[in-house]
Amino acid sequence: MELWFTEKQTPVFGITAKIRETLVREQTDFQDLAIIDTEEFGRMLVLDDMVMTTVKDEFVYHEMVAHPALFTHPDPKHVLVVGGGDGGVIREIMKHPKVEKAVLVDIDGKVIEYSKKYLPEIACELDNPRVEVQVNDGYMHIIQSKNKYDVIMVDSTEPVGPAAPLFERGFYQGIYEALKDDGIFVAQTDNPWFKADLIQKVNKDVKEIFPIVRVYGANIPTYPSGLWTFTMGSKTHDPLQVDETQIPEIDTKYYSPRLHKAAFVLPKFVEDLVK
Ligand code: SAM
Repeated sequence: MELWFTEKQTPVFGITAKIRETLVREQTDFQDLAIIDTEEFGRMLVLDDMVMTTVKDEFVYHEMVAHPALFTHPDPKHVLVVGGGDGGVIREIMKHPKVEKAVLVDIDGKVIEYSKKYLPEIACELDNPRVEVQVNDGYMHIIQSKNKYDVIMVDSTEPVGPAAPLFERGFYQGIYEALKDDGIFVAQTDNPWFKADLIQKVNKDVKEIFPIVRVYGANIPTYPSGLWTFTMGSKTHDPLQVDETQIPEIDTKYYSPRLHKAAFVLPKFVEDLVK
């Protein structure tokens, strides 16, 4: 009998993958967690029936969360990841020798535990001595941190359940205060086909707080609509003023020095959303 997993990306539209094997299915304290092995995209982390990452296309999202901000800040020593318990963003951050310490704060220890066990190619740097892993609410961590981080990355689930507060204006204000004077933050901000309102709301909130706000995109086949956005807020450094000839080539499959500024060139309908 064939088994298929469907994520309803909207109430009337979905994405379907043929399942080879279900490795984990568990209700944690925060969410329904599954790791399934799929024919096309390999192992897939699913939270509350939403695809979080897959072994085949994870590199796009994780590289594009980490590198644009880290190659915009001239000296990113202390970095925070809110969410991101699969470890993919941490793996990319560890490619930056200037980073002395990266703190990962995910609310759900089970995501970390099962990612280490079943997604080792993604979670492989979580035990790096430069990494500190905390199982905690990212909102609380932000509110309690002042003038502490050079770069903050928000790698959260969608704005439902425990991640809902991570899309509120007060959270972005907290991030501003948790950053040092020349700090940068970046957050995944969903897709412009089904979540245009969310992108506009986040953009408006972040523009009221940060002097420099830039939105960029990437193609991620297993995320709703395949076109994903990221919003960057910065106190002083502008990603569009970076001299790409000074960005070193590192081991990546999507991000490159050529893509650094190009990723900020948005399709017109997305540009119109964030004008
Ligand atoms: N890349 C994915 C996407 O865009 O669909 C999300 C990755 S998944 C690893 C996001 C993580 O955010 C989950 O592990 C979840 O436990 C965590 N998370 C949700 N709410 C959180 C909160 N309030 N504080 C910290 N982590 C949170």
